[in-house]
Amino acid sequence: MNRMLLRVRACAIVPALCLGILGMGEWTCKKKEEPRYAGGVNPSGYRMLEGKKVFVDAGHGGSLGADIFRQGPGGVSEEEVNLRVARYLRDKLAAAGAIVRMSREKDEDVPLERRVAMAKEFAPDLLVSVHHNGTVRRMDRVNYPCVLFWGSAHNAGPSLNLAELLQNEFHKIMEDRGRVLSDFAAFPETGTMILRETRYLCPGVIGEAGFFSDERHALRLADLQYNQLEADAYFLAIAEFFRRGAPSGTVRASCAVESDPIAGLLIKDDRPVIALRLDPGAKDATIDRSSVRAWVDGVPAGVTLIEDALCVLDYGERLYPGAHAVRFSFANSRGNRSPVMHATFTLEIKAGDFDRLMGEGVRLVKSRRNPREGLKMLLAARSMSVTHPDDDTILWHIAQGFARIGDANASDYYLAKIRHCYPESSYLPKSARTQSEPRMMVEYKGAPVSFLHEASLEHVCREHTRKKTPSAPVRRSGPRLNEVI
Ligand SMILES: [Zn+2]
Repeated sequence: MNRMLLRVRACAIVPALCLGILGMGEWTCKKKEEPRYAGGVNPSGYRMLEGKKVFVDAGHGGSLGADIFRQGPGGVSEEEVNLRVARYLRDKLAAAGAIVRMSREKDEDVPLERRVAMAKEFAPDLLVSVHHNGTVRRMDRVNYPCVLFWGSAHNAGPSLNLAELLQNEFHKIMEDRGRVLSDFAAFPETGTMILRETRYLCPGVIGEAGFFSDERHALRLADLQYNQLEADAYFLAIAEFFRRGAPSGTVRASCAVESDPIAGLLIKDDRPVIALRLDPGAKDATIDRSSVRAWVDGVPAGVTLIEDALCVLDYGERLYPGAHAVRFSFANSRGNRSPVMHATFTLEIKAGDFDRLMGEGVRLVKSRRNPREGLKMLLAARSMSVTHPDDDTILWHIAQGFARIGDANASDYYLAKIRHCYPESSYLPKSARTQSEPRMMVEYKGAPVSFLHEASLEHVCREHTRKKTPSAPVRRSGPRLNEVI
């Protein structure tokens, strides 16, 4: 399958090979055959879609007849099929109470930048981009569906959930199941624009429901009844996605959170309770307790669920002056994942903090006595000065810190940062681990969420501790949850 994928041109980005040759303009349905497929989804009864905002992107357009690459046997063109399916889908979603916007409603060329802008303006709960695939192997009967999500499977969360649901629906109407895959598998430098530029906006997928270049499938795609069946596949996947729910959350702190013109969200307490307020995203769904993952500045944080949807973080002894990022994700009881979410704040910085954190951080990492705290000091110091002339030195010690706490991936990541970002670094010989060609990594910060003050957090934690260990005194020396909660 992988070898096959390499030889197939997924249609989402591939430029038209031949433009402006035939000049055919009108959108027409070239083949109207007798319906060969029974079925048809009745949109009523899908209450989970009521009020949901869905952006439906019909791929391509405006080059009918001129775009030879996207024409299949019998003259069926991808862009007209995309539009028909998208329109059927729009009507079904709207009939179920969803609010739908399309990137195009007719045969016209809408630039990708415009599609992205339309989606951002609409602020949908979900985006689907309707495409069909083509290949230069036209005589090989290549035909399978695939669904693309943006970036890494580790970060795709809800998009991956939607992709798998859609793939399962495609499989019900096609012989092969095909694959769910990252758009980086096909477009390794940038992924696809429509998914990349909306990655923090909402879950999104590109559906490639088979190959218009295959003779038998081209006949199906020219069949209006079959187009409706494909729209049903999208409809059912979207409905199931919303039934399972879209988990989300916010980050809360027990201390005051000020809005500072320089530092952004500012706190002055170095030992606040930091917690996640989690929303399973669907009525009657709950949090999958084992699924919650959290990091503070990339260092794994302990998590303790102390209420149904309140999770307290164990970030170690204390926070250090500088900017911090809390990243987290989780799944609900119906198996839908949240996106990776992130919230940023700054702990007040005072004169001398940078030098103090650097000195103490390097000492602790080197001594191996308390590398985790040393690593946190170095990360906090770096947040104050990312263009420091000795940044490669800081990166080197951070890499050592991650290695000391057993996180080889994060260590390699910071070594790679030296290789990619500091061509004059004296650490280059030491940071190059293999002879393989260096590959640039892609960052995914996470969907931004709020960082809010919640005054009752300390009380809630204290009550939780009291109920769990009635005789244990509550310490105010920092949220070492293994000890106090
Ligand atoms: Zn396409």
